[in-house]
Amino acid sequence: MKIDFLNLKQANTRFENDIRDAIGRVIDSGRYVLGEETLSFEREFAEYCGVEHCIGVANGLDALHMILRAYGIGEGDEVIVPSNTFIATWLAVSQAGACVVPVEPDGLTCNIDPQKIEAAITPRTRAIMPVHLYGQPADMDPINAIARRHGLRVIEDAAQAHGARYHGRRTGGLGDAAGFSFYPGKNLGALGDGGAITTNDAALAATLRKLRNYGSEVKYHHDLRGVNSRLDDMQSAVLRVKLRHLDEENRQRAALAQAYTEALAPAPLHLPTVLKGTEPVWHLFVVQTPCRDGLQIFLSEQGIGTLVHYPIANHRQRAYADQTWPDLPIASRLQSQVLSLPFATYLSAHDVQTVAAAVLEYFRRTDGTRTANRAAGVDHHL
Ligand SMILES: *Cc1c(COP(=O)(O)O)cnc(C)c1O
Repeated sequence: MKIDFLNLKQANTRFENDIRDAIGRVIDSGRYVLGEETLSFEREFAEYCGVEHCIGVANGLDALHMILRAYGIGEGDEVIVPSNTFIATWLAVSQAGACVVPVEPDGLTCNIDPQKIEAAITPRTRAIMPVHLYGQPADMDPINAIARRHGLRVIEDAAQAHGARYHGRRTGGLGDAAGFSFYPGKNLGALGDGGAITTNDAALAATLRKLRNYGSEVKYHHDLRGVNSRLDDMQSAVLRVKLRHLDEENRQRAALAQAYTEALAPAPLHLPTVLKGTEPVWHLFVVQTPCRDGLQIFLSEQGIGTLVHYPIANHRQRAYADQTWPDLPIASRLQSQVLSLPFATYLSAHDVQTVAAAVLEYFRRTDGTRTANRAAGVDHHL
């Protein structure tokens, strides 16, 4: 039996009729950009996140980049980011013209380690951009306390954490502003690109509404040298359908994560660590093992698809090769040890058992090989 890492068509099947109706409504409306569907989605998503304002934009990278721009963060400024994240977090800072200052994660949660942030602050630091990686909320209380002490902005990268809670409060409202992505594979995914900014800062929201629309609020009056980065009505209509089911889907994800955690307990793996006081939304289920490559090949031979998030640490990417970076041993280790198991709301309990059984079988076999080699005097490192 084959189990994909994630099959998007299958993931959207349960919404298919409602999505077709919603798209039909947009076609009939004749309004395709900044129309009723987008206004309604912005209202509904703001309410969902527990914030005052939501601004729909073209994608998650633009969301993060535009927040920085709206705060006037750019040339000559520094922004603290996790060393371990999807590269878009870094690119948003670079695109704004500011300098990326990576801070290592806690090796267990994989999220930025608040204890390492203060050492990275300089007179040029303007903001901290924590990421709620894999759907696990970053430890926001200490991060906000540090930011307050040093007069810094806190910008959440919430692209993987729609609906996650930190001490009862949803991501998107845990800092000064947050960037979301609605890329199809995210927990709240469109049928194309999409993104949003959430904030309680009314002045910031007003600037962003202009910035995303050629710097204009009133047609043909341009207050800023803005960009064109809008969430369109077709995607908004799809997202409105899926938003109504987001909590239910996140609960299914939590149940799958629980099932994986129980079934994989006997395996010599590092399983995901959940920070106290948080409710993750399990965008990914990421295990860590020094035998990652062997395990991935074995699972693939059994018809089980996995992915690596992410195989090359950002500071080792060619895009950032023109700078010298400090030693980032945790990010460097994670790139070779993390493995994301199949994870989708359509997976059955039986699918999870199948994957877990294959993982256990891999370790049973390699352990056997190790023992045999040891007996034969072969020095064998996995
Ligand atoms: C997906 C993602 C982004 C970028 O979102 P796009 O919509 O693809 O531009 C940013 N940060 C993280 C952590 C992501 O996972």
